Amino acid sequence: MTEKKNHTSNPGVGCDVIACKYNTVDCRCNAERISVQNENASSKGETYCSTFCPRGTC
Ligand code: SF4
Repeated sequence: MTEKKNHTSNPGVGCDVIACKYNTVDCRCNAERISVQNENASSKGETYCSTFCPRGTC
């Protein structure tokens, strides 16, 4: 059976990371779920999306 992707999985998540395979043409995320990590983060720049996946590599 073919798995269908829901392109509105995270309608509230905007993202400009165009190199990520989950990034859509309208700058949103279509991953089923995302995980934002760095438990020691104290600023926006110290957070990162561990769900990021470069296009064509995963
Ligand atoms: S997985 Fe992370 S980096 Fe990729 S589009 Fe979604 S929020 Fe952006």
